[in-house]
Amino acid sequence: MRRERLFDGHGRRISDLRVSVTDRCNFRCQYCMPAEGLPWLGRADILTFEEIERLVRLLAEMGVTDVRLTGGEPLVRRDFPRLVSMLAGTEGLRDLSLTTNGYLLERDADALVEAGIRRVNVSIDSLQRDRFFQLTRRDALPRVLRGLEALARHPEVRPIKVNAVAIRGFTEQEALPFAEFARRTEFQVRFIEFMPLDGDRAWTPDAVLTGRELRELIGRVYPLEELPREPSATARVFRFADGRGEIGFIDPVSEPFCADCNRIRLTADGKLRTCLFSLHETDLREPLRSGAGDDELERILRDAVWRKELKHHVGEPGFRQPPRSMSAIGG
Ligand code: SF4
Repeated sequence: MRRERLFDGHGRRISDLRVSVTDRCNFRCQYCMPAEGLPWLGRADILTFEEIERLVRLLAEMGVTDVRLTGGEPLVRRDFPRLVSMLAGTEGLRDLSLTTNGYLLERDADALVEAGIRRVNVSIDSLQRDRFFQLTRRDALPRVLRGLEALARHPEVRPIKVNAVAIRGFTEQEALPFAEFARRTEFQVRFIEFMPLDGDRAWTPDAVLTGRELRELIGRVYPLEELPREPSATARVFRFADGRGEIGFIDPVSEPFCADCNRIRLTADGKLRTCLFSLHETDLREPLRSGAGDDELERILRDAVWRKELKHHVGEPGFRQPPRSMSAIGG
């Protein structure tokens, strides 16, 4: 059934849904959560595959075409490939993708591709084993790289992107190794500015190494040329002037891209977040579990999306970090 397209109160059409399928993770990245982890949601609190499928189907009827599955770490959710296959056949979806830390990719790559995943972002913040361990508190780089290779053996999964969080005092030493990685492999490397969504609430503006600074660092050695920006894109993508690949920069703090934002998020416990930095959420789990019909759910979704924030206020006086951290929101 086709429904009216979904728009927010600023006239932006919403076509991209990020679904967090779990708040749990097998890594302890310093920019995301404390070493001891966080209090996890209980099994009864998180949406079932059938509930996720229903919301995705309904939003697809309202014009959502792109769904990205995230976490926490989505691959730690039991039977995750089954959810992928349930969603892959959703009418109206043109893109079903995944964000993962790659630790379980070597095990799951074949099943994920068979189930219908076609684009994958793998989070890797350093290509040096000791520094990877330092940031993620896991000695896992070799295994993650094997997972990346296992995925790359499937030509139907493209692009495969490698996302590195950029942190001042750490990522400066990663800039050239990642540029060289992007030049010698088929993986698209993108740096993401550190955002105030960490579980430790230790983020400060000084900790942000901006995309511009990274471009200067890389451009001194490998000149860059900017490519045209896709509508609603989060990344500024550059090609190496000598034609040896591309590299991207996601700069939400220094160069916000909210004006044409087309994204909404569903948390693992069934809350709709209309912005990554939302201070308010709309509960969908309760109406889902108390028998609300599709029209009622549609009304709740439209009402919430209509009030979607125009932009984030990071770096502005009065900015408040959301109570929910990145691990419980998803990328
Ligand atoms: S900060 Fe919010 S409004 Fe801005 S691009 Fe991200 S989700 Fe969209």
